[in-house]
Amino acid sequence: MSKNTIAVIGLGNMGLAMCQSLLRAGFKVYGTDLARDQCKAAQALGVCVIDNIPQLCVATDVILLSLPAVQHVRQVILGEQGLIHLAQPASLIIDTSTSEPAVTRELAEKLASKGFSMLDAPVSGGPAGAAAGSMVMVVGGSKAALARATPFFAALCSKVVHLGENGSGHAAKLINNLLCAAHLISTAEAISLGKKAGLDPAKLLEGLNAGSGRSAISEVNYPRWILNASFNSGFSMQLMRKDVGLAAQLIEQMGLDLPLSALVTSAWGDSGSQIADSEDFNAIVKTVDGGAL
Ligand code: NAD
Repeated sequence: MSKNTIAVIGLGNMGLAMCQSLLRAGFKVYGTDLARDQCKAAQALGVCVIDNIPQLCVATDVILLSLPAVQHVRQVILGEQGLIHLAQPASLIIDTSTSEPAVTRELAEKLASKGFSMLDAPVSGGPAGAAAGSMVMVVGGSKAALARATPFFAALCSKVVHLGENGSGHAAKLINNLLCAAHLISTAEAISLGKKAGLDPAKLLEGLNAGSGRSAISEVNYPRWILNASFNSGFSMQLMRKDVGLAAQLIEQMGLDLPLSALVTSAWGDSGSQIADSEDFNAIVKTVDGGAL
């Protein structure tokens, strides 16, 4: 099997953008998605679209998943037409979805028992970072699997951090997104307070971003998607609600009582009545009086 081929299952906002970086780096990229429009968009980029997993498995032994949630990952790996039944011997499966650490460990064990290897390799940077090849990846899995994936990761990422065994990448990603979810609300409250105190939000952000109160939310999200009201980051409310829920589940599994995290979890859960799942995740700031514009 050529070392220059890879398949991407899930050609949505992230999967499609990752294909761009893989193609630019010279890889032959195969892809599949349940949605016809996504397949067409991938074909237009130069992806060799194959509409079923059995044929995809014949084409390559490195398979990257970019799927919405854990149930999709489980289905693609363990389902009737799943990778565990159809992949080439010794295939490497890379799950870049944001998923559930305990399920990831279970899937990795099942795959290993059939001679496959798996990495949980969730990403930050959004579709723009995926298309530019500048994502940050937190990885769980063996050093050998990571070494095999490194040429592909070099095309996709500016930084790769190996956390440890399977599941640790997904745990790190949930912790990251919990902080991101908290920073969106805390920064919206800071902007609300500043406006009430007579400050210009853009000038306040300039000051915050030069000081110790800054975060990726104040440095990137506010200027790029919130202050200009574009709300088009390519990351949906539905997916962020999933991540906050999974982070809360992890806290519970660890037997911790984290009061601030509990408040953040409630705020994201309660926002369902105001902000639809299809909206951009940055729209959570609209639930804070004066937090948006
Ligand atoms: P998306 O909904 O845009 O894309 C997911 C794609 O998977 C869809 O096109 C869907 O049709 C396809 N799909 C679902 N089940 C499938 C199956 N069985 N076989 C083939 N295709 C299938 O989601 P996204 O924004 O690209 O996010 C993908 C993953 O990356 C999620 O886990 C998300 O949490 C994570 N993530 C997203 C972002 C972002 O900014 N969008 C950033 C970091 C991480």
